[in-house]
Amino acid sequence: MSSTPPPHPDLALALEASDGGARATTFMTAHGPVRTPTFMPVATKGSLKGITHAQLERLAPDVMLANTYHLHLRPGEATVRDLGGLHGFTGWQGPWITDSGGYQVFSLDHRATLDEEGVTLRSHLDGAPVRLGPREAMAIQESLGADLIMAFDHCLALPASREALEAAVHRTTRWTAACAAARTRSDQALFGIVQGGTDPALRALSAEALLALDLPGYAIGGLAVGEGGQAMRAAVEATTPLLPAAKPRYLMGVGQPLDLIDAIAAGVDMFDCVLPTRNGRRGWLWTRDGTVRIGARLHAKDDAPLDAECRCEVCRTHSRGYLRHLFKTGEHTAVTLGSLHNLTFLFELVRGARTAILAGTYTAFAAAFRARFEAGERAWQEAHARDPEAAFRSREANRARGTGHSEAEPA
Ligand SMILES: [Zn+2]
Repeated sequence: MSSTPPPHPDLALALEASDGGARATTFMTAHGPVRTPTFMPVATKGSLKGITHAQLERLAPDVMLANTYHLHLRPGEATVRDLGGLHGFTGWQGPWITDSGGYQVFSLDHRATLDEEGVTLRSHLDGAPVRLGPREAMAIQESLGADLIMAFDHCLALPASREALEAAVHRTTRWTAACAAARTRSDQALFGIVQGGTDPALRALSAEALLALDLPGYAIGGLAVGEGGQAMRAAVEATTPLLPAAKPRYLMGVGQPLDLIDAIAAGVDMFDCVLPTRNGRRGWLWTRDGTVRIGARLHAKDDAPLDAECRCEVCRTHSRGYLRHLFKTGEHTAVTLGSLHNLTFLFELVRGARTAILAGTYTAFAAAFRARFEAGERAWQEAHARDPEAAFRSREANRARGTGHSEAEPA
């Protein structure tokens, strides 16, 4: 059998402040500190879509996320490893996190067949068979070389039966133990993923079993997969208190501004989501006063910046009218500018939340953010109801929105 795995790295999480359930922490990785709450942008294939390295340096994320499944297919983990791992390959020398491929495997539904050792599926690129399980997910992630790595889990779309959810919880526990045992590197912190859908008892069962493995960090998975905002909030609020205070807590695939506000209040430290870049490419641009649909006619001669308080180059340089023109004519820069602004917006939101937690004012910060954002959304709905063209475009955009977990889902 296999030899004893090396010890886990010590993330040395320091709790700097807590404010109600919300908390500000700093923990250490092999490539630098992570200050929380933090938002981790998704570089699916090792690149933040539309964003150059110089722009990335100005955004200065604490952690970058890349997808195991996609890098396994192209260029293959051996190529990434031989080019210096994710840090050398991409040139981003800060902390990286990789997912395990579990979400992609089960969400892309490429005729996957499940067995006790993992999953066999068809590549979404060419139909070739791909094998992923705890052993494969760990071997690939060790080659990719991220600082934080994820256990291979069984994530179900919701709604799902209690029987199916319970089976997925037990399978996730067995697979997580197999991941921990398969490790050969001592510089990568393995996170377990709590499953259990929206059932508090199953969440508790999953958390208890995974905590027994004493991993460096824990994630809440299997949410933002069709259960709706209310149910998601309840599941986060039920699960977060079950996780150890001395370890980072990561809510996977959630990035709507108001969802972040609530999850931070519940004690979540880390987030990832494709929404800033996906919505950015489609001209759905977040502001402190709600979402601006930049394609709407009302912005045609609008000389205001997108968000007067945003510090990004888009808001300091361009008018809404010019941005609308770029989106309407399909200019490549529209993708870059939309993504850059949305990413800046989320970073400013989580950094503002951190500042407020450190100052003991998070409740007021969250309430003020919510009130202003929701007022803007309501104003848009009202303006919308009066403009049939805008209403049509919004329906199209809603249809194309998908979930926040993967850039590679069919658009
Ligand atoms: Zn901006």
